[in-house]
Amino acid sequence: MGAAQAGEKQYICSGCGGKAPKVEEVREREVRDLPWRKYQTVVVVEFYRVRCPTCGLKVEVVAQLPSKAPFSKDFEDAVGLACESAAARQVARQYILAASTVRAIDLRYLERWAKGRRKPALRELGVDEIYLGKTQKFLTVASNLETGEPLWFGPNRKEETLDEFFRTQLSAFQRKQIRAACVDMWEPFTASILHWAPQCRIVFDKFHVMQHAAKAVDEVRRAEFFRKGGRMRGLVKGKRWLLLSRWVNLDSRKRQLLNELFRLNRRMLKAYLLKESLDRLWTYRYEGAALRYLNQWIDQLRWQRLTPFKKLAEMLLRHQEGLLNYCHVPVRFGVVEAVNGNIKTLLRRGRGYKNLRYLLLKAQRMAALKTEFLVLRKAA
Ligand SMILES: [Zn+2]
Repeated sequence: MGAAQAGEKQYICSGCGGKAPKVEEVREREVRDLPWRKYQTVVVVEFYRVRCPTCGLKVEVVAQLPSKAPFSKDFEDAVGLACESAAARQVARQYILAASTVRAIDLRYLERWAKGRRKPALRELGVDEIYLGKTQKFLTVASNLETGEPLWFGPNRKEETLDEFFRTQLSAFQRKQIRAACVDMWEPFTASILHWAPQCRIVFDKFHVMQHAAKAVDEVRRAEFFRKGGRMRGLVKGKRWLLLSRWVNLDSRKRQLLNELFRLNRRMLKAYLLKESLDRLWTYRYEGAALRYLNQWIDQLRWQRLTPFKKLAEMLLRHQEGLLNYCHVPVRFGVVEAVNGNIKTLLRRGRGYKNLRYLLLKAQRMAALKTEFLVLRKAA
């Protein structure tokens, strides 16, 4: 591969990206390229050192030499592509490379992809946290709800954590463009959002609210288990999963099991129905109607002595605005969960994510591929 015969060509300085007309010397480098049949292939790439008006003596930009590492761009692209569907360790075995080398190649591949793409506008923000374990604790994840891609990771889950996202990742203009933020009922996040993007409507994530409702059902179950002895205990025992499942997802045999329990324990029935019916709150399009439904739901608690649900009702009233905001900005629920699911899958699959930047790019690429896939399907 020779660039030597290209006569009046302009060379690009690798320092500043500007034009560098004068060639100072010829160099060459050996890099690993795509295999030829069953052989590992090494190619010699000839390149120039050029005299740049601003940087002085610099290496020219050569498309096939993306970094100082001994691999051609085509080779790195092939390894990066392989990393999209397999763990780094598997790719390493396939290409006879160290796993750390594969990860470094993959990271450069992803950085090149990120550099060359247009970032979609952020109008609907999702914020959630992932529990990483005892040592690292929490990771705050900010994502774009419309594209389903993660935008930023921050250690911890404090107000200052999210403050840093707003401060370092978005311009004042971009912050003003956010019209909705979908969050858990976690005050530090809400506080940060309202400080940096006061025009944005807070929408509490339905999944998190329903998780609280499921927890209330579980608390009622436990209380009943201890309150009543004998036969009742036997009936409640082992039904935890059933009680936390949605009715629509149960087959007739499982429904019968629950019905047996409900016949003997009205309190369990009431708790289950309360959880099931709360779901309907998000079917309303008008704030007035949604508010009426919420109040009716809370009225049902009167005389019931279901303490866990009383607490839940108080929490819902405290966060009423963020619940009703959904009528104004019906964000896509479940996106935050999907983003988190992808990140957890990545973390499980490869242990090489001490580098958060790598993890972020990987998760972004995953989300983007899904979008591209949908676009392809639409065209077909
Ligand atoms: Zn330069």
